Amino acid sequence: MTLTKGMVDCPLCGRAYAALASHFIRGHHVVNLAERAILCNMATGRILIRATPCSAAGCSYHSSRLDKHITNSHQELTTALRARLMADAKQHPSGADGQLPGYRGGRGARPG
Ligand SMILES: [Zn+2]
Ligand SMILES: [Zn+2]
Repeated sequence: MTLTKGMVDCPLCGRAYAALASHFIRGHHVVNLAERAILCNMATGRILIRATPCSAAGCSYHSSRLDKHITNSHQELTTALRARLMADAKQHPSGADGQLPGYRGGRGARPG
């Protein structure tokens, strides 16, 4: 089984889309540009948030595969909130192991 070229799995619902950015807006109401960018990068494998603690209130999960944890264990949250959790995890990587150079943070971006 091969995915059509250009199709990537949505990290929030697991379905494949060609235009993920608009899917995030229309399907998951992720209106925050930074969060959308993070989700797109996660979907394409440019960012992995595996060994990062979960930032959901009251949740002490801290193990590998945070992305799966958020998707599977926080179904009580809206997808927009799950997107926020993943974005939070990316912004506070305590054990990021898959972040490749070339992420379009842009030169001159604020350090830290
Ligand atoms: Zn989706
Ligand atoms: Zn959690």
